[in-house]
Amino acid sequence: MQDGQVTEQIHDDLAARGLAPAEHVVDTAYLSPAHIERARRVHGITLLGPIVPDHSHQARAEKGFDKSAFTIDWDNRQATCPQGAVSREWRGLRISGHDYIQVKFAKADCLACPVRAQCTDSAVRPRALALLPQPLHEIQTHNRLEQATEEWQQRYAIRAGIEATLSQNIRTCGLRRTRYRGLARTHVQHVLTAMACNLHRLADWFDSAPRKRRREGCFHALCTTMFPAPA
Ligand code: SF4
Repeated sequence: MQDGQVTEQIHDDLAARGLAPAEHVVDTAYLSPAHIERARRVHGITLLGPIVPDHSHQARAEKGFDKSAFTIDWDNRQATCPQGAVSREWRGLRISGHDYIQVKFAKADCLACPVRAQCTDSAVRPRALALLPQPLHEIQTHNRLEQATEEWQQRYAIRAGIEATLSQNIRTCGLRRTRYRGLARTHVQHVLTAMACNLHRLADWFDSAPRKRRREGCFHALCTTMFPAPA
């Protein structure tokens, strides 16, 4: 099961117990514009995480006109390109079970365009865009802009806490593999792993003795012998 398939379930379960958080910090696999919109609308949760970047070749190359270079006029169902051309076609599409809007520009405009090479790879076809429905498109655009800022990245840094917890459990308790067959037994393994993690951390918390220094490595010993520190 993919991470994003359980985001809604996690929120519903937390809300059913009166534990819905004001903010839920997740990694990319758990969120999409639709997840952000639903979390806000149904539970009032701010779902914070980096949205998948624009995979178009223009965005990846960081030159040329990616989607953000176009102005979208939702009321008149039109887009305007950086050259000022207005789209000629606007229609709904369904791709892999998701709704999109396909926007196409006029072939005559694009064939005569002096900056065509910055816009499309096609030798003969006009530029086309695939947009999410307006509320989701706006969330996507806003999130992509915001997640590039230092302020957003500082806010997101708190995610490192749970990543460290997962890492500890994967390394010390083999969390990546189930030892049992069936979800019920696997769930018991997860609960026991969580208890072990808590006990481990409590032990660390109460252990006030400083940790031993690591044994000096051979390379370090050789270096300090050959190049002793100045007196
Ligand atoms: S190729 Fe078409 S859509 Fe792209 S900038 Fe030129 S006129 Fe506009």
